[in-house]
This record gives sequence, C-alpha cells and structure tokens, in this order.
Amino acid sequence: MIVELQEEKLKERRLISTTIDISGKLRIVNGFRLKLIRLRIKLTLLKVIVKCYRNPVDWIRALRYLIQLRRRFLGNNKVRKMAHINGKYHIGIYTPGWKSKIYEQFIASQLNDFKQITNLKVNRFNNIFFAITKKCALQCEHCFEWDNLNKKEVLETSELHAIVQKIQDKGVSQIHLSGGEPLIKMDALVEILKGADKSSEFWVVTSGFKLNDTNAKRLKEAGLTGAIISLDHFIPELHNKFRHFNDAYYWVEEAVKNANNNNLITALSLCATKDFISEDNLMSYMTLAKELKVSFVQLLEPKAVGHYSNKDIILNNEQIDLLENFFRKMNFNKEYSTYPIIVYHGYYQRRQGCFSGGKKGIYIDTDGDMNACPFCHKKTGNVLDSNFEQNLEILKNEGCKSYNMY
Ligand code: SF4
Repeated sequence: MIVELQEEKLKERRLISTTIDISGKLRIVNGFRLKLIRLRIKLTLLKVIVKCYRNPVDWIRALRYLIQLRRRFLGNNKVRKMAHINGKYHIGIYTPGWKSKIYEQFIASQLNDFKQITNLKVNRFNNIFFAITKKCALQCEHCFEWDNLNKKEVLETSELHAIVQKIQDKGVSQIHLSGGEPLIKMDALVEILKGADKSSEFWVVTSGFKLNDTNAKRLKEAGLTGAIISLDHFIPELHNKFRHFNDAYYWVEEAVKNANNNNLITALSLCATKDFISEDNLMSYMTLAKELKVSFVQLLEPKAVGHYSNKDIILNNEQIDLLENFFRKMNFNKEYSTYPIIVYHGYYQRRQGCFSGGKKGIYIDTDGDMNACPFCHKKTGNVLDSNFEQNLEILKNEGCKSYNMY
C-alpha cells in the first residue's frame, strides 16, 4: 500500500517538477559568476592572513593550511554552486556567509589552529547547538530529545540569555537554536536574538511548525540568519507519518515559503533512513527542494539515540556509499549546479574527523548541560557552572567516539 502510494506520488512529483517555473527567486550562484566570487573570497583570505601574521613566510604557509583544510573535507573536488542571500555568499550552513566580519573572524579562528594569533580575538567555537525548549507538538520517529520531550522546562528566559552571552564571550561563529520546537518559544527566541551581540550568526533548527509570515518577519528583524527545516519525505503523507503529526508537511511548505519571502536562508534537513535511501527517492527529494527554492539540503544519518535508541536504524556500507555518491554527483557535477547545495556531515566526518565534542563545537541541552553533539548525549557539566572551562576541557579530551581523527 505504502509502495503504491509512493510510486503514485513520485509520478505526480515528477510531473510538477517539469512544469513548475523555477526561475526568479532561486538563490543559487554557479558558472562564471561563481568563479568571480571565489576569486574575491581568496582575496579576503589573503587579507585575513596578512592581518593575522607579520612574517610573509607565514602568509604562504597559512594559505597552504587553509587549502589543505578544505581538501580534507572535499578532496580535489569543488562544489559547483553557492547561495546568495542578503548580499552574502554561503558555501554551507555551518560556515558563516562571505562577505562579513563574522566570516573573517571565522577564518582567523581556523588559522589559529595553524599558528597562534596574538593580535586578534579568535573564536573558541565554530558552531554551537543550543536547545532552548523541551516543548514540541510533534512525535518524530528519530527524535534525539525524545526522553526530555514536553517535560517541565528547566531554563528561564534569563538563563537562556546568560548562556548565549557566555558562549559569545568565548567567541562562536554560529549558534543553532533548536529544541524541542524553538518556535514554540517565539517571544524568548526573539529576545535572545535581539539581546545577542552581532559577532555570531543565528539559525533555528525547526520542524517548520508556526513559522508563519509574521514569525518569519519577527525573526528576521531580530537578526536571524537562516532556518533549517526538517523534511523527511517528499510525499506529504509519509512525512506526516514519520513525524506523527498530520500538518507536519503543511508546515514545512509554509515555513520554507515564509522564510524565503523574508530573506532568511532556507535549508531542508533529511533524516535518510534505510527505507528512504534510493537514488530515485533522493532525486525526487532534491527536485522538490529545488521547486521550493531552498538553498541547502542537509543529509543526516540516523543515530541510535533518543527515540531511535536500541533500534536497528544504522545504515549499512552500501547505503552510505549510495548517499556519498549522490552527494558527490549533486555538488560536484555541472549538470546539477542549479540544485540546492547538499551538506552531509557523515561525508566530512569520515574524512576529517569530528569538529564537535568540545573541539570546535558543543551541544547545550535543555537543562543547560554540555554534550559532545546533538547525537552524543553525555552531560559534561552545566554551561553556567563556574567550572565551565574544566568541564569543556574534559569533554574535549574525551572527544568524539565515532569519528576521532581530528
Ligand atoms: S525531532 Fe524535533 S520536531 Fe520532532 S519531536 Fe523531536 S523536537 Fe519535535
């Protein structure tokens, strides 16, 4: 029954994709314009390097370091597109947009790993995920916060502020606000954004629930950069089933439309399950993402945490190969240069190791406790504790158990 429904919807979806007008607001840059932008980005890298170091020998070595760092993620391949929104160019959802002070600070912070920078402030973190509420209307199959969902809140709004301030004081390029469903706490969310300093980009990680036009506008005005909206199937009924919520798909389309209309960067996030993974399904998903005019699609591999604890959900090598080949095809092949850019942690982590686990990122849960990442839950002290630094060091030394190369 589900297979028949899927085939029928696939045909419908393909029909739509051949008739819909995708020109106009699509924010993907490619071709010659991309080459020019890349050249200008390289000039920015040189500018940052010269600011960071006095010795010309260091300039050359620092540039080489940045090139090698990029190669560790992508090899000799180049992503054939970039997203252009609000005058900034974005290569991914975990790298701040160029051109901006935040981007320059981010580059200086990477250079600090090559050779310590003494004349500029560098960020301690690249990205921090911060779950600001336990509340959520959905009941997703894969929810990593399942054990805390809809329990009594622990953190007051003043503590949410205090945590953001503390991590911004340490220096952080991006803060991703999640939950539960962060938009359930709209007022607190807006307050956090307005109260934060402008040294970090802010994103929300949302199911799309309540991301109506009014809320999108409020978030944009308060300083939000983008929204990562979860969509686990291109067939509405199957997404709703996965999320145990009849309006889940409706809210995804609403959220993408409203976020796009208010100049927020949009990304769809797919939990690529064993049942979902096939070339056909992935292509249909990307076709929908392109129709919706999102700039990024994030591929997440299921992890045995929260609602997925003790379940047989881990992908096998064949499924991972299929995902990796699809990632390469969509990002590195000219033919697909008008599709959204795929962001795929598993791909980078298998080559580069994990940047989270206290090294360049942490996950702060709804109690304010530090964890290695949203999928590795092992509380290592509260961010507001006076011994935050020691706890961070403990977390960092324990590192990531899954991808411990870095
Ligand atoms: S995964 Fe997100 S949207 Fe789904 S139940 Fe958990 S918190 Fe809610």
